[in-house]
Amino acid sequence: MIFAKRALLPSGWVGNVRVTVDGGRIASVTAGAAPAAGDARVDTLLPALANLHSHAFQRAMAGMTEYRAAGRESFWTWRDLMYRFLDRLTPEQMEAIAAQVQVEMLEAGFASVGEFHYVHHQPGGAPYRDIAELSSRIMAAAAETGIGLTHLPVLYSYGGAGQAPLQGGQLRFGNDVARFARLVEAARDAARDLPGDTVVGIAPHSLRATCPEDLAAALPIAGDAPVHIHVAEQPREVADISAWLGARPVEWLLDNAPVDGRWCPIHATHMTETETAALARSGAVAGLCPITEANLGDGPFNGPQWIAAGGAFGLGSDSNVRISLTEELRTLEYSQRLRDLARNVMVPGAGSVGAFLYDGAARGGARALGRDAGEIAAGRLADLMAVDTGHPTLCALSEGQILDGLCFAAPDGVVTDVWAAGRHRVSGGRHVARDAVAVRYRQAVAALVSAA
Ligand SMILES: [Zn+2]
Repeated sequence: MIFAKRALLPSGWVGNVRVTVDGGRIASVTAGAAPAAGDARVDTLLPALANLHSHAFQRAMAGMTEYRAAGRESFWTWRDLMYRFLDRLTPEQMEAIAAQVQVEMLEAGFASVGEFHYVHHQPGGAPYRDIAELSSRIMAAAAETGIGLTHLPVLYSYGGAGQAPLQGGQLRFGNDVARFARLVEAARDAARDLPGDTVVGIAPHSLRATCPEDLAAALPIAGDAPVHIHVAEQPREVADISAWLGARPVEWLLDNAPVDGRWCPIHATHMTETETAALARSGAVAGLCPITEANLGDGPFNGPQWIAAGGAFGLGSDSNVRISLTEELRTLEYSQRLRDLARNVMVPGAGSVGAFLYDGAARGGARALGRDAGEIAAGRLADLMAVDTGHPTLCALSEGQILDGLCFAAPDGVVTDVWAAGRHRVSGGRHVARDAVAVRYRQAVAALVSAA
């Protein structure tokens, strides 16, 4: 059980809060309480965020693509390097990298992750004997680290818009819809060994990696689970889809797919005003990945219009070039300020930017992952994190300023404790398995690099 000097409840800040947990869910929340023997005592308790978009293996490339080769570096040249990198990736390495990523996410304050998982097969494209071998590796990592997992097997059938054939590094991703259905079923079977908060959804990779007929055939596989899709990340992608389908990607999806609150369009960077308002009103949760979008030169999200239309959003670390909850929050707001030459952009009307971003990302992220979380309330999953407001970056702030301090001033080191569906895996800022996981990660990456 948990005793917090203060906690952020749906009604606002409350002092001396005791939270009890049963079966991974919050059983009771009592304000004005006294601590009991054996309680984990923390300073300030918040709903933990979901990290709604990750490609775990890309963590091992961080820092390897930040030099300029001949000509102009772009998203597409970065992708070429990524394909060459994963030509050598083994299942053991995938598991070791995923575990390291998940430990870093938990220590940063994320209780759960949406793993948008698209490397399925052996180099060259032959399936493993267990078609869900690599999904099982992600799940084994989650079993070890305790992170809440929403596993999103990816349908990736084509190498580009217009049903271009898969090439090179893409062969490890490829499935037609029938084999994809078997893969999802096998992943669901594997997930039965994980805690009950585990979710298996689906992720058609993007319009350019699928086609209208396949997308329609694949959607029923999701059932009621989340549907994630990359969309409108790059101008070239918008141009390619427009030339092929006669509509911009978001425009096409809204006209041709049953986009609703189960959907999480990832990035949604390059949208017209009409697309922005219509997608926001659909109930879909915009999956924003501010650090990666900055790193890849994608461009800024249309935040003011999205918020004005009541759009939901959450945060993802995508390429995992850096895993930081506080930096994702501030990079999102700073991308807006740099474009608009204005301050305090991501908040409707008047109010705290930090509070709006944090609360929005908590609720939207949980919804995007199919997790009944995002607020500290009885019945919800106990996805919780604690910060130390005695830290020098926070100690001068009033209660109303704590989330602004967290977003704009604090390092992730202010996070002391994290619970994922009640699993208390981070305390004193350290994940319980940090050292063992790091040892295996170093070995895996050393082997990968030496094979280059
Ligand atoms: Zn992505």
